[in-house]
Amino acid sequence: MRKLLESYISSIGRKRRQNLTSMCRNCHADSQDLWAIGPPYPRWEEVAGGSFVMLQRCATCRQLWLESYYEPFASFRYAVKWSGDIELFEVTRDRDQSLTLCKWHEAEVRLKANCASKSTLARIKAHYDRSGGYVNLMPSIEPNPIILG
Ligand SMILES: [Zn+2]
Repeated sequence: MRKLLESYISSIGRKRRQNLTSMCRNCHADSQDLWAIGPPYPRWEEVAGGSFVMLQRCATCRQLWLESYYEPFASFRYAVKWSGDIELFEVTRDRDQSLTLCKWHEAEVRLKANCASKSTLARIKAHYDRSGGYVNLMPSIEPNPIILG
């Protein structure tokens, strides 16, 4: 009985360790779907570029992220998890010089900001203040009106 119990406890420990190692320590894709620039910013590999947008790949787990650059001076960067493939990015980008991608990205940031960390929310608020309210990525429960694909 004792041996059975030890074996059971050991298997639970193994499962916990497996779950921990399956988490990406670089982009935290399992628990995070929005990044605002600032440390700790993940290491990306550039996959494909557009106008004010860049499809990025996590250097560790290969999750795709859509990054976009916002005024003032394209100095505020956010990335949202990209569940499409590279082709969807390229086709959408080429349709209207990335305009749809930028608008989709904006709506995604606002939606995902609802579940964002305190530090991400603080960056969004700082961005809003810095732009004098011109760039408003504050949390919204409005669904993304743009359907890609
Ligand atoms: Zn990752």
